[in-house]
Amino acid sequence: MKTLDQIAAELQGYDPQALSASDVLAFLGKLVQPVEATLALPLFEALGRVLAEDVVAPFDVPPHDNSAMDGYAFRGQELSLGAPLTLQMIGTALAGQAWQGSIATGQCIKIMTGAVMPPGLDTVVPQEFVSSQGDRITLPAGLLKPGDNRRLRGEDLAHGKPALLKGELLTPARLGLAASLGLATLTCFRPLRVAYFSTGDEILSLGQAPREGAVYDSNRYTVFGMLSSMGCQVIDMGVVRDEPAALEAAFLQAAALADAIITSGGVSVGEADHTRTMMKKLGDVAFWRIAMRPGRPMAVGRIRSGCTAPDLQDLQEKYAPTATYTRLYSYENSSKQSIEHVEKNAILFGLPGNPVAVMVTFLAFVRPALLQMMGATAPAQPLLKARSLEAIRKKPGRTEYQRGWVSTAADGSLQVKTTGNQGSGVLSSMAQANGLMVLHHAQGNLAVGDEVDVLMFDGVI
Ligand code: AMP
Ligand code: MG
Repeated sequence: MKTLDQIAAELQGYDPQALSASDVLAFLGKLVQPVEATLALPLFEALGRVLAEDVVAPFDVPPHDNSAMDGYAFRGQELSLGAPLTLQMIGTALAGQAWQGSIATGQCIKIMTGAVMPPGLDTVVPQEFVSSQGDRITLPAGLLKPGDNRRLRGEDLAHGKPALLKGELLTPARLGLAASLGLATLTCFRPLRVAYFSTGDEILSLGQAPREGAVYDSNRYTVFGMLSSMGCQVIDMGVVRDEPAALEAAFLQAAALADAIITSGGVSVGEADHTRTMMKKLGDVAFWRIAMRPGRPMAVGRIRSGCTAPDLQDLQEKYAPTATYTRLYSYENSSKQSIEHVEKNAILFGLPGNPVAVMVTFLAFVRPALLQMMGATAPAQPLLKARSLEAIRKKPGRTEYQRGWVSTAADGSLQVKTTGNQGSGVLSSMAQANGLMVLHHAQGNLAVGDEVDVLMFDGVI
């Protein structure tokens, strides 16, 4: 395991005071490792998990040539250009019930969609194209070529070939594919356990009475939502007071329980913030200033678990890797205080406090790193191109993320406009957005009609 200094030494021009977004991604890519443990999950529980091994097709899908239409199956070689074809219908093939018999020249069988094509027959005419009289059907000239409306054995998946690959996220289509191979379970990486807490003495939990100068904890819910959408198990630790003993206990417990710890607040240089000091004391942590907006301060590293986890074993059982649904544990309500020693590290993402800065740094940096930890090999979310409906001032030398609404223009192309006040604490414009416009590091001002990259929220959060 490389120390943060070793990782930094491998990156050209690493400057913790002025990191570009791409430097951040490169650093995190070297910092995190995929989890090792795997588990066999029934398909219903495998949705959203990451496949831990290749799936090789144990047979051809479909297993036989079969009909793609309800119609009549016959020999394609009987089609002759320029003349209608009349055939005698001598039987019926139903889906799941193969037709047994032999067919002479000039004959056909009625066949249903999905029914096995009898040997020698290779072409199907859909029933709506024929005229019939008694047991005779006639199809018009020039309608078909040999092989039409037949699905070939193995055309979906070929026996012995990989059908799904290690590292793929199990989407609904991939679950269906696994089912078509008769697989009742899939070997997946265990879900990632991510602990989250908010810091700051001005932060109120829901249910607490409002008081002057205090704000309700919104980060708890945005982070919960983003982690849950990724299929992570969220260990919700609520608000931790800005006080060394409380922070130390929270970090040690989080490190013992979780693969990653996300905090918000207290990473900029503020007088009453003990968060930075505690991160430094308990781990190998770098404090960055990122050339981005919103965002900027961020702490990253590893926190060593020590002890003071309230009834750790109990908690670990509760978050056992077999759990497939998000479970919450409120640190605030914990009363047990038994001590146990556990040696492990958890990756720390110390995010800034401002609500939109939290979401943007999560989407830009934390999400890709967590996907890597989940064992996912999917390339980064593709950015769409949309025409900006407004001019935007932008300084080269930092990456800016603007909350936007993407819609379809009258000519069918994509267009985007900002959703209002872009302040880093203004959650309402984030709540109205369906994507983030990404104004890249080197990019300058944007004129009306210029193309801009957009990271769509759909499928992400
Ligand atoms: P900090 O990074 O701690 O200096 O916080 C920056 C700003 O974000 C301050 O205005 C905080 O009140 C606000 N803030 C910090 N944490 C939260 C939170 N969990 N929910 C809502 N606002 C927060
Ligand atoms: Mg603070």
